[in-house]
Amino acid sequence: MKVGILGLQGDVREHARLIDAAGATAIIIKHAAGLDEVAGLIVPGGESTTIGKLLDRFGILDPLRERIRAGMPVYGTCAGAILMAREVRGPEGVPHSIGVMDMAIVRNAYGRQVDSFETDLDVAGLDRPLRSVFIRAPIIEEVGSGVEVLAEFDDRPVLVRENGMLASTFHPEIAGDERVHRIFLDLIEEAG
Ligand code: GLN
Repeated sequence: MKVGILGLQGDVREHARLIDAAGATAIIIKHAAGLDEVAGLIVPGGESTTIGKLLDRFGILDPLRERIRAGMPVYGTCAGAILMAREVRGPEGVPHSIGVMDMAIVRNAYGRQVDSFETDLDVAGLDRPLRSVFIRAPIIEEVGSGVEVLAEFDDRPVLVRENGMLASTFHPEIAGDERVHRIFLDLIEEAG
């Protein structure tokens, strides 16, 4: 199975490594045409403003949104989760967003004092805790009724799923544990 990693900016290689470790083949995507080659796409962390602008400039934003609406599974981490949210709340918006997932998110919401931290999370369906790294992470403030919360930190959702869409406010790829990527591969198989 081929899984795309959006390769415009951010931690692209780490995701590619974990997709390969989870048993699929990672393909770095930099053009809209690349979307036709893959069964699902990861939108990595980085800077949501920059990734959104590049998606727009390279003409990927609209085709990507259409593919997702047509059922292509997508997994956004951190900046990727921000871009997938239907609503970005608070002082920092994003100029270009994919806006497909029924949730409201606030950028850089943990504040400067604790803007990066690591923790062990209990994740639905996983038998042992998942080491997770939060870097200038957003907070998911609200989710719609069709969104399943797979993990929480501080009573806030940090890993959520809506149909074939998965989003985490943390980076599993930095800790190097491929189990969230396996969950994503299962979603792709389900979408079949
Ligand atoms: N702070 C970034 C943003 O708001 C996200 C950081 C990340 O992806 N680690 O876009």
